[in-house]
Amino acid sequence: MCPGCRKPQAACICGQKVVPAGDGVVRVSRETKGRGGKAVTLVKGLALDEGALAVLGKQLRAACGSGGTVKDGVIEVQGDHCERVIEMVKAQGRVVKRAGG
Ligand SMILES: [Zn+2]
Repeated sequence: MCPGCRKPQAACICGQKVVPAGDGVVRVSRETKGRGGKAVTLVKGLALDEGALAVLGKQLRAACGSGGTVKDGVIEVQGDHCERVIEMVKAQGRVVKRAGG
């Protein structure tokens, strides 16, 4: 029995890394539904607080030369900028997947 986690030594979880909120994968998608046909690029799954999200959102919008918002933990960039956004988030050492269309 491990005194730390009270599991058998073989199943001890004490040394394991804490997994960030969600599965740690950032998902970038393009969406046009309900927006009058205009595309937006959505960045989901960032395990960041609001302040850090706002900063990253600003960087992404600047890099894309576009407007956008941060809402409910999701960064929105106006227009279809998936490629550039994925590149930038990857450059920060995150795991990024393109999701949806
Ligand atoms: Zn343990």
